[in-house]
Amino acid sequence: MNVSVEAHKCVSSGQCVLIAPEVFDQDDEGLVLLLEETPGADEHENVKEAAAVCPAAAIHLRQD
Ligand code: SF4
Repeated sequence: MNVSVEAHKCVSSGQCVLIAPEVFDQDDEGLVLLLEETPGADEHENVKEAAAVCPAAAIHLRQD
C-alpha cells in the first residue's frame, strides 16, 4: 500500500490522526502530515478507514 495526501485540501479535522496515528500527524496549523508512505500490513485497515472518513477526501491509497 502506498499512501499520499493532498495537504492543501486538508480541513484539519484530525480524523486521520485519531484513527491511524502511526501514519498521520498534523502540523502546527493542523494540516495533515504523512509519517509513513508505505505503512505495514497491520496499519492497512486503519489507513483505509482514515481515507474513507476524511471529510476533504485528501487521503489517497494505491495498492501495490
Ligand atoms: S482526516 Fe482529512 S481533513 Fe482531517 S486532518 Fe486528516 S487529511 Fe486533514
